[in-house]
Amino acid sequence: MARDHEAAPQGPFGTRTFQLGRVFGISVGVDPSWFVIFALVTAMLGTRFEAQNESWPTALAWGAGLVASLLYFLSILAHEFGHSVTSQLLGLPVISITLFLFGGLARLSGEPARPRDEFLIAIAGPAVSVILGLSFLLLWIFTGNGSVVGEVCFWLGSINLVLAVFNLIPAFPLDGGHVFRALLWTVFDDLNKATRWSGLVGALFARVLIGMGIALAIFGGPQALSGGLFMAFVGWFLLRAARASVWQSRIKESLGGVRVGQAMQSLERRVDEWTTVEDVAEGVFAREGLAFVFVEDSGEVVGLVSLKAVGAVARQKRGFQRVTSVMTPLGEITRIGPRRSLFEALEKMEDSAQSVLLVAEADEVLGVLSREHIARVLQNRISLKN
Ligand SMILES: [Zn+2]
Repeated sequence: MARDHEAAPQGPFGTRTFQLGRVFGISVGVDPSWFVIFALVTAMLGTRFEAQNESWPTALAWGAGLVASLLYFLSILAHEFGHSVTSQLLGLPVISITLFLFGGLARLSGEPARPRDEFLIAIAGPAVSVILGLSFLLLWIFTGNGSVVGEVCFWLGSINLVLAVFNLIPAFPLDGGHVFRALLWTVFDDLNKATRWSGLVGALFARVLIGMGIALAIFGGPQALSGGLFMAFVGWFLLRAARASVWQSRIKESLGGVRVGQAMQSLERRVDEWTTVEDVAEGVFAREGLAFVFVEDSGEVVGLVSLKAVGAVARQKRGFQRVTSVMTPLGEITRIGPRRSLFEALEKMEDSAQSVLLVAEADEVLGVLSREHIARVLQNRISLKN
């Protein structure tokens, strides 16, 4: 359980991201999938510049394509920084910004405190894209058609405006969906309800996008094939994200009001440091149906033993091995207060990549809380409703 607390940063597909550095205290990284889209956009631009400007040598067209592609992804980063800096200014820290297959993703450390904050954070990204788009178009007007700089600026200007418009579609979790949620939040005065409704609209839009993408790929001829497939792919990603946010808000609502102290296993069940692994396995876990037991040393609680840790010891060795050899010292387990909500506990588990938390208040250990304890509460709540 003593894992590094700087848990491996994960991209939207759960893969490890490549860290580029920290800006404004936010770690910036790229998901492996980004290299694919970077190569595709560069190739698309190289071919396009070459076809549209017959006087350009191939190397020049592809060089321009590479520069335009890099500036495009820098524009996306600037868009994400728009969200992130606003969020930080409003007191909501940002964990990371990641570039991936479908663009950029800023991970905030929680939900905004009120609808106004949600609106400002959401609108800041497209605002940056609009400013960038207009600036590049202005540069294009000054440099004119046909020149290399002019062509690159024209494409960057248009694509940034397209980016702003696409992101403003009111389909959660797109930026426009967040704006929509801020509006619903004001109307309902209930964030969970607002999330569910905007999630449903987002899922509907995602299905339309998938349908349109597939239709385009089938009936649009060979030129539209890759574009159509990509559109369907974006739709699939949005559908997944919309569903996840609806699901998360359901869980949050089901767990709402239940405190860590009400769901934890308390300190009462203990064994002393001389107990063997076998005694714990058969005497405590098998007979009492528990998954954890505290270990005390001369009357003082020093560690925690889990069913999982005991299970890892070979059966024939259990009788000769002391329980202290498989226990985790209390100091190594992340702590949480008993009055915190179960949802906060769940978030803390995700952030620290641990499945067990020590419940403690002002240095006094009170008990243990695991994912299973939370799952049990969730199960009871759901079966009560049905
Ligand atoms: Zn955005």
